[in-house]
Amino acid sequence: MTARILDGTKLAAEIRAEVAAEVAAMSGAGRKPGLAVVLVGHNPASEIYVRGKVKSSQEVGIYSEQHSPPETATTEELLALIASLNARDEIDGILVQLPLPAQVDAKRVLLAVDPAKDVDGFHPMNVGYLSTQRPGLVPCTPAGVMEILRRSSIPVAGQDAVVVGRSDIVGKPVAMLLLNQNATVTVCHSKTRDLPGVCRRADILVAAIGRAGMVTRDFVKPGATVIDVGINRVADRAEFDRLFAGNAKRLETFLAKGSTLVGDVHPEVAEIAGALTPVPGGVGPLTIAMLMANTVKAAKLRRSQK
Ligand code: NDP
Repeated sequence: MTARILDGTKLAAEIRAEVAAEVAAMSGAGRKPGLAVVLVGHNPASEIYVRGKVKSSQEVGIYSEQHSPPETATTEELLALIASLNARDEIDGILVQLPLPAQVDAKRVLLAVDPAKDVDGFHPMNVGYLSTQRPGLVPCTPAGVMEILRRSSIPVAGQDAVVVGRSDIVGKPVAMLLLNQNATVTVCHSKTRDLPGVCRRADILVAAIGRAGMVTRDFVKPGATVIDVGINRVADRAEFDRLFAGNAKRLETFLAKGSTLVGDVHPEVAEIAGALTPVPGGVGPLTIAMLMANTVKAAKLRRSQK
């Protein structure tokens, strides 16, 4: 059996098209949704992510602006910037790209974002809304995981779901969303006993660990749906061979670039799972699409509250 591949690139394009239609309707009715992205300093990975977010906003017709305080910015300076964005009515979403430089109190900065504009869904107010099933803003990657399941007609209610990883930005919110949709949820982490055995109980297995190819075939019940959130860069040849032995196409990219992107799930899992998200091209593309959807949602929620 070979797993059905859940094509995140295609699903993300669907979502972007739906968002673009909503943005057009909102713009026609008077005002575009607006997104402000704050990028502090020059972290190369963050610069790539922010470029993607700004580009995607332009494509769906969302007004966007980028603020780029220097690497030396202080907590007070960032708090002043957030306060000015909170006060501007045409800004519906505020995204502070992480990580922030070491001298900045990141928790204070994130707490300062108006929860109604918190399109990353990290503010404790939105975390509370999620856990008490009230309308609010849900973190983008976990929301993307749920969209993949929904749009691929994979049932959630009553299913055994296992989430490996308990971070505030992925593992915990994914677990909460699955629970809210009536799955029976187990959350695993680095202290979990018999991780493969626990994972083998899953009808839906979500890997959000940050370890290349850690989830091997002995973690997976035949026919299970496996969602691979991990994004890991593999540059070591021996590690590459452990993951991709015999894959001529991957080897070509690896040799040309000196590295390749790998999820937390070993490629051999495709031989046993019922459905699987690829890396790249699985959960990743959904994250930015859900940021666009969240910006529209924030704009609607704010307008309905006026
Ligand atoms: P964190 O490092 O914050 O969390 C990792 C989690 O995995 C922790 O809960 C940790 O357990 C657990 N873990 C680590 N090692 C093991 C192990 N050997 N056995 C069991 N559990 C383990 O990572 P994130 O949640 O931020 O990200 C996870 C992955 O998802 C990363 O690869 C990241 O790049 C990717 N990611 C992808 C996104 C996308 O758009 N597709 C967006 C965000 C992240 P413990 O708590 O005990 O330490």
